[in-house]
Amino acid sequence: AEPTPEAAVPQAGDPALTLLHRIGTTDPASLDDYRAHGGYTALRRAFALGPAGVIREVTDAGLVGRGGAAFPTGRKWQATAAQPDHPHHLVCNADESEPGTFKDRVLMEGDPYALVEAMTVAAYATGAHKGHLYLRGEYPRALARLTHAIAQARARGLLGDDVMGQGYAFDIEIRRGAGAYVCGEETALFNSIEGHRGEPRSKPPFPVEKGLFGKPTVANNVETLVNVLPVLTMGAQAYAAIGTPGSPGPKLFCVSGSVTRPGVYELPFGATLGELLTLAGVRDGLRAVLLGGAAGGFVRPDELDIPLTFEGTREAGTTLGSGAVMAFGDTVPLPRLLLRIAEFFRDESCGQCVPCRVGTVRQEEALHRIAERTGAAAAGDIALLREVGRTMRDASICGLGQTAWNAVESAIDRLGAYE
Ligand code: NAD
Ligand code: SF4
Repeated sequence: AEPTPEAAVPQAGDPALTLLHRIGTTDPASLDDYRAHGGYTALRRAFALGPAGVIREVTDAGLVGRGGAAFPTGRKWQATAAQPDHPHHLVCNADESEPGTFKDRVLMEGDPYALVEAMTVAAYATGAHKGHLYLRGEYPRALARLTHAIAQARARGLLGDDVMGQGYAFDIEIRRGAGAYVCGEETALFNSIEGHRGEPRSKPPFPVEKGLFGKPTVANNVETLVNVLPVLTMGAQAYAAIGTPGSPGPKLFCVSGSVTRPGVYELPFGATLGELLTLAGVRDGLRAVLLGGAAGGFVRPDELDIPLTFEGTREAGTTLGSGAVMAFGDTVPLPRLLLRIAEFFRDESCGQCVPCRVGTVRQEEALHRIAERTGAAAAGDIALLREVGRTMRDASICGLGQTAWNAVESAIDRLGAYE
């Protein structure tokens, strides 16, 4: 197994932190240690509030999804809970695959019981009795730790037919992905669990109405679920006071590249990109920062005052996405980097729809021609890239095709990559 990316040194285990406070200070194999550090107080409060009360807290806290799309979690839970069709399913999307994103890995490896508890809360609130944890196949340590945590929770009555003696039944099954980026798209993930090809479905209908096995389904990212614990232990108001009105709460950022202290950082939403990079020890000669991974966009070194919030990055014409922050120094050959991103999308396209299947190939071909000319674009290359990019964005079925041109477009428009 690869070494675990360390949670950033000044951050991990700090009791002042909301999401990372147990990482590195508690034994991830010990349920007793988890409980001694606040574990299972959120589930106890959830049972006291009842399902509707939990959804109210999550809604009042303003929690939005941390997978990248920032959809309001309370709205998603309420929509599922209200569905008359049964059974309801809970899916934890742990297929963390966005390049430069490794926050969920740190949470699952360092604090696995937190995810087990959070899934139990989410299922209880939305009327599900089965939780499906779809785990990225390349995370063997997370698999071992979660498998152990689930078995221990089951043995101690925290999963099973009568959770905490409350008469509520819930259990979790882990399913491993097999390396396809597209299976992180929630409906491709459902198909994968059901034993079909991992191809996205058209939405609507949204999963809250017709999801896994055609039943009402809540699909949440790992970090989103883990945030539900402080919402319940602190209370919605205190939680919402962290961050900004548009992006409440704490956020995990994955910093990599041209920095001296790469890792996962927890900061309240609203800190600036420059503040985060200072913490991570940005090296001299910064050329560009890629925000949101391969599906995100580049920003320039003179734009480091961008606030790290969903609304702030949107206003700045970029995206926060999953919280990936990749710093590139001025020795990085941009044409090769963009070609690598294009190769990634071409490789990962599931091929189901034409704009993405053909567009990702055409994009790669054009970038390859430009890279061979050591970065000089011939007349027509940029126009072709724009046309192909627009078509992928407007006409692709899922987020993969819709975002496959983001990084290239931002490199052309913001960085002047081929000027
Ligand atoms: P989306 O905006 O289509 O949906 C976001 C969530 O909200 C989904 O769960 C969807 O079902 C739900 N939703 C949307 N509208 C709804 C409605 N009207 N009613 C009920 N539910 C509704 O985005 P998406 O395609 O699910 O995700 C795209 C994001 O994923 C991008 O921002 C990208 O950054 C991110 N991403 C993350 C990773 C990672 O590894 N974390 C990998 C790839 C992409
Ligand atoms: Fe598949 Fe790409 Fe179409 Fe998504 S956009 S369904 S990945 S071909």
